[in-house]
Amino acid sequence: MSEEKKIILTGDRPTGRLHLGHYVGSLRNRVKLQDDYNQYILIADMQALTDNAGNPQKVRDNILEVALDYLAAGIDPRKTNICIQSMIPELSELTMYYMNLVSVSRLERNPTIKEELKLRKFGEGAVPTGFLTYPISQAADITAFGASLVPVGEDQLPMLEQTREIVRKFNQTYKSDVLVEPQALVPDISRLPGIDGKAKMSKSLGNAIYLADEPEEIRRKVMSMYTDPNHLRVEDPGNVEDNPVFMYLDAFGTDKETIAEMKEHYRRGGLGDVKVKRYLNDVLQEVLEPIRTRRKEFEKYKPEVYRILQKGTANARVLAGQTLANVKSAMGINYEQSLFRDEETKSTTESGIENSDSTEAERG
Ligand code: ATP
Ligand code: MG
Repeated sequence: MSEEKKIILTGDRPTGRLHLGHYVGSLRNRVKLQDDYNQYILIADMQALTDNAGNPQKVRDNILEVALDYLAAGIDPRKTNICIQSMIPELSELTMYYMNLVSVSRLERNPTIKEELKLRKFGEGAVPTGFLTYPISQAADITAFGASLVPVGEDQLPMLEQTREIVRKFNQTYKSDVLVEPQALVPDISRLPGIDGKAKMSKSLGNAIYLADEPEEIRRKVMSMYTDPNHLRVEDPGNVEDNPVFMYLDAFGTDKETIAEMKEHYRRGGLGDVKVKRYLNDVLQEVLEPIRTRRKEFEKYKPEVYRILQKGTANARVLAGQTLANVKSAMGINYEQSLFRDEETKSTTESGIENSDSTEAERG
């Protein structure tokens, strides 16, 4: 990997297998960009624990699942470092320094946090501090690798904004330029809805088609999909906008002409949901078949997958360590290099006095 290449950082919470939403929102871009960038992908197990503190086993088990999904989707470990967040303690240390640059009310105003709090239902006064502050830890992740580009789904935009604020505040406060302001890369279809029609396909909502789903499972899910609720009879005119079936076709279909014709027909009336769903099923089967096959191959070589994670994490630690050193030196708290060294110099020059002191004390 050449040093001049710009850096990409993305991540996923190991709370379950990856689904079509991840693929559309971020994973597909990561696969595309890995040739031209130095890429780091973080399996964010510490972030997953912020709302799964009672279930570390789930998080632990899903590290391998997520890694398998990456490899299956075409992430190439020779081009991309896949790393495990908790094994890079430098990230936690950075988080601690950044925490002092962000107010509690700013975190409470973060739109994604607000939306997720509604879904998580922690209960009145029971929001874990770690959950509220995870945008800061995400800023640490992004800046630790000096990432200039972050390919994410739309739900992550407020996180990127928060990161940019932290970068500016840090560089201003400590009169430095050690942190890089990242840009988000959001795809055209930036938020894939769930098969139930809810705004976002999500592991936690049980409305996902997973990259590893078997053909029959995919078919069953597609045939049960929410469509236009007012399209009751085949001859009724139907709505294409906000209709998940057509949004999936836009996201995954390659035959744009056929899709345009189908949309026209559906709008006019006379095209039944079952027909559209059958077509979508074909499209998705074609996208997911090679991914599933590759996944099964990697599943046979789990020790190799763990080696990939170890290697990626080791590489990531080196870079995060350099950033942490730069951060501490910008803040003047790199005591090994400054305070202790200053003291050493002082004690050498003042050694005469020190000696006479000690003799005095001994005499006393
Ligand atoms: P959880 O429910 O545990 O938060 P999640 O399904 O939201 O899981 P994350 O690990 O939080 O997944 O998100 C990882 C990445 O995938 C982010 O970049 C996010 O924007 C993207 N992503 C997740 N779901 C979707 C979706 N439905 N559409 C587009 N992008 C998505
Ligand atoms: Mg999420």
